Amino acid sequence: MEHQWEQADQLEPWLGRSFVCDSCGREHRVPLRRVVLERGALAALPMYAQERGLRDLLLVCDRRTVEAAGQALLKLCAEAQLPAQLCVLDDDEHGELAASERAIVQLLLHVSPATQALVAVGAGTLHDIVRFAAHRTGRVFLSVPTAPSVDGFASTGAPLILGGFKQTIPACAPDAIFGDLEVLALAPRPMIAAGFGDMLGKYTSLADWQLGQLLLDEPVCELAAEITRQGLELCIRHIDDIASGTEGGVSKLMEGLLLSGISMLLVGHSRPASGAEHHLSHYWEMQFLQAGRQALLHGAKVGVAAVHMAALYREAAALDAPAVQAAVQQRLASPAWLAPDGEAAAIRAGYGAIASQVLAENADALAPASRAAQLRQLAERLSQRWGDVAAVCRRMPAPEQLAAWLQRVGGATAPEQLGIEPELVEGSLRYAKYVRNRYTILRLREWL
Ligand SMILES: [Zn+2]
Ligand SMILES: [Zn+2]
Repeated sequence: MEHQWEQADQLEPWLGRSFVCDSCGREHRVPLRRVVLERGALAALPMYAQERGLRDLLLVCDRRTVEAAGQALLKLCAEAQLPAQLCVLDDDEHGELAASERAIVQLLLHVSPATQALVAVGAGTLHDIVRFAAHRTGRVFLSVPTAPSVDGFASTGAPLILGGFKQTIPACAPDAIFGDLEVLALAPRPMIAAGFGDMLGKYTSLADWQLGQLLLDEPVCELAAEITRQGLELCIRHIDDIASGTEGGVSKLMEGLLLSGISMLLVGHSRPASGAEHHLSHYWEMQFLQAGRQALLHGAKVGVAAVHMAALYREAAALDAPAVQAAVQQRLASPAWLAPDGEAAAIRAGYGAIASQVLAENADALAPASRAAQLRQLAERLSQRWGDVAAVCRRMPAPEQLAAWLQRVGGATAPEQLGIEPELVEGSLRYAKYVRNRYTILRLREWL
């Protein structure tokens, strides 16, 4: 009997589906059709490509992943008589791959008119480069994750560093994902810890989304939030297996990461999975980049930032309604707080050479005419709804708990362990909120 490739249980119900959501009333579409997550999953890719009538695959790797899986996949394609070629992207001056203009052009030079599908064989950064190129050249995008290091494999957005500014460019989700547990379990330990850190950040991103709903009437899809929560809980439940790096452990971590990715696919943006903890991480990343420093793993930064944001949630949870009322009145009485161009000046101070991109991201919120009125409205909401806001804050696990979980999987728990200086942390607490025009705990704490 022919081998039946297994699909991950909790992912299966969403794959390839289009439906009108009971929770938010919007139409949701999951373009990801298949996920194979098991030992030997690489061998399922050539079969899938043939089933889909695809030929001439370009297997895109970096220097490390060509060894980890690229060569093996090329051989499997040859055995299946499926034409395929390798493209190995060059590292940057720090000996790593960056999702920058240089890598994108290098990849595009390998795409020939005959190429029908681009296969990302690597971790998050490599996926973002390939995702963007596949989308812009209209090729089918297939995914072979080599490390369970981020939740972005299944998403549509490609976070790229363009002109030194990290921005998420709309692109496409993979058509199918082939996660070979043998390959994934051999991923470097820090990458496994980083994947777990990216998941821990969902505690704060989901809470930030609720803040946006309570204070700015931001639409929330409870189904998407629930799927993200399922992914997070799966990782917490299997933390011991993840910590020991077993195939079972990396399978659960990968499933959690993909659930988070599917949740983003449902709503069409990263709100369920990315809040203040990601803004801090992006801010640190951009500052490192501007200073020519070696990049840190995305999930390592997110995990550390989530611990910090959980501490801010705890501070907010300790305030009662009269204290909030008094703090809000004090803010509103401050002319500097209401000044129309204060925020634009802060962005210039916090972002230097890349301030113009950040100003553009925040253009709506910076319209000077509406600022004072918006702030007054927000102040009223804060006072009226403090009971609900405080309840969101109180549900956040303690920062010590998040740190203990991170430590269990071998991840860093504090910025200094990653070489992020106290001044940079200070700067990010002030300026990271401008990375995206989204309501988060960073914006809430300014009132308190
Ligand atoms: Zn929905
Ligand atoms: Zn992330």
